[in-house]
Amino acid sequence: MARILYTDLAELVTNKGVVRKGGVGVTEADLGIIHDGALLWDTSNGILWIGETRKIPAKTAKGARRVRLKGKILTPAFTDCHTHLVFGGSRHNELALRLEGATYQQIAAAGGGIISSVKATRGATEAELYRTARERLVAARSLGIGVLEMKSGYGLDWPTERKLLRVAAKLKREFRGKMTIQSTFLGAHAFPAEAKSPAQHDAYVDEIVDNMIPKVAIEKLADACDVFFDEGYFDARQTRRILKTATRYGLEIKLHADELANTGGAALAAELGALSADHLLKIDDKGIAAMASRAIVAVLLPVTAFYLGLGYAPVARMRKAGICFALATDFNPGTAPCLHMPFVMSLACLHMGFTMPEAFAAATYGGARALGLHAAHGSLRVGSKPRIAVFNCPSYQALIAQIAHPALCEAVL
Ligand SMILES: [Zn+2]
Repeated sequence: MARILYTDLAELVTNKGVVRKGGVGVTEADLGIIHDGALLWDTSNGILWIGETRKIPAKTAKGARRVRLKGKILTPAFTDCHTHLVFGGSRHNELALRLEGATYQQIAAAGGGIISSVKATRGATEAELYRTARERLVAARSLGIGVLEMKSGYGLDWPTERKLLRVAAKLKREFRGKMTIQSTFLGAHAFPAEAKSPAQHDAYVDEIVDNMIPKVAIEKLADACDVFFDEGYFDARQTRRILKTATRYGLEIKLHADELANTGGAALAAELGALSADHLLKIDDKGIAAMASRAIVAVLLPVTAFYLGLGYAPVARMRKAGICFALATDFNPGTAPCLHMPFVMSLACLHMGFTMPEAFAAATYGGARALGLHAAHGSLRVGSKPRIAVFNCPSYQALIAQIAHPALCEAVL
């Protein structure tokens, strides 16, 4: 056990009011910023004291190692609550094809898209998948991410889905002292290429429900279950079946919802009591009202919309309804090859109509709430032990304004 007293911070961003409001209607005052801040950190028990440097009580400082962080900020670490971090192969060539005029559908028809990642992932060994995912995780942490969710979904058969979840479980163990990792089973990411007819699609859903989810639960391979509920993917009947089964097996549930078309994803997330509904580019007022009534977190993923030129989720209407926002990278090889949470906040402010305090709250507290981890993470409170980050800049606003700066994060604890 060691005690460290961080002092002289230009800003200590606590998110005090954000927590009180459940992440809804965030303003600058809700960030609870303490100027010239100080924080006493105990490596076993977390935060013991928070306040202004000049008001540190003598007994608080006693026995603690003092670390002066003049001109820097200390905040809750970023929570990246939606990533597809584990996969084989690379799809950088698809951007070249798109720039030459090919559509995403044409690229997929020519063997690219998710199916090419599935092929590369099935062909990769567990050790290879582990090595590349580990490199990505180290990069994520270097950018200030302390809590990260990773999904399976590039296997679409049980041996490969299991391989992906085992890699996630191994990373979770290895990074226990450095990051908090959650794992999500996304066997329903797409239909495997070998399932062509509607009957074969239903047979794949049977396989998920009767075989994969029970095994995920028995082997304790995931914390949650997700479904790609959208036009051309899983329909309402199939999604309901999968998520109800996951709930029965004790998994949390979430959805890729209303991204490509409005299929009622937001309303289904509310009906089933999901932790979050993610993407929501095409959400309608009915879906917004349903999410607000059940306090479902809206996970918005601006990099994907930016990369594909899809337009953005209707933030103003969701804000008005009182929905809690989370921002995440959606890191994946095809449509969002980016782990830069500060850049995600910049996009949210410049293209989606977020204010800076909203973006910061969504990238920290909102993400933690979307994972059900907000009791511990996403805010700085005495008695809690969140992942915290130190950034070499004078204000949280600089994280957003200095677009994609590569070296602002000094440490994640
Ligand atoms: Zn996704």
